[in-house]
Amino acid sequence: MLRAVIAGFVAILAGFRTTFGYLFVKKPTIAYPSIKKQHAPRFHGLHELRRYADGKERCIGCELCQIACPANAIVVVGAENTPADRRSPGERYAARYEIDELRCIFCGLCEEACPTDAIVLTPRFEMSDYRRGSFVYAKDRLLVPPQGGVGSAPDERPNGIPADLGAVAQQKSTVDIATGYDATWYGRALKTERRGLAG
Ligand code: SF4
Ligand code: SF4
Repeated sequence: MLRAVIAGFVAILAGFRTTFGYLFVKKPTIAYPSIKKQHAPRFHGLHELRRYADGKERCIGCELCQIACPANAIVVVGAENTPADRRSPGERYAARYEIDELRCIFCGLCEEACPTDAIVLTPRFEMSDYRRGSFVYAKDRLLVPPQGGVGSAPDERPNGIPADLGAVAQQKSTVDIATGYDATWYGRALKTERRGLAG
């Protein structure tokens, strides 16, 4: 009996070994948001649509990312480039490109599927908001602005936070914030319609 009690007591102490080990260790306090926590190199955060060095969009509107997405979070509507309005080097470009970041599970399959390295997941994570519609990121927030360079290729990302962290999230979407939920709904409706499932 006594032996069982002692064994139980020892087991409890062993179970708390990690807890006790950290009890008197100085706690790391990060003065967020002025100081950002360093992420793992392969952290998957907010998406970005990249450009080529000449300013053209990398996205050719092929919709492969939309097909690959297991969460049905992406809507791509391609359109033909014209000599007068050439957005990408290919025949097509994404006239409409939206990602519902609330549906996204940040798996990175869109990045893997993209033949032109156009869509990438950045280390940015600051995208909190109060309205569901604000999480539907359209091209105005996903595409690197013309003066913003070309965007980072997945293999060139810094191990940590880019200097412009939050800059994208701070921009307001042109997706109508007042009817933001409708924007989400429209994305779903479009997918349903395309798959021949419309009622
Ligand atoms: S990271 Fe995954 S879930 Fe998110 S948009 Fe890309 S494929 Fe879809
Ligand atoms: S982001 Fe890539 S995969 Fe998606 S439509 Fe554009 S080119 Fe195709």
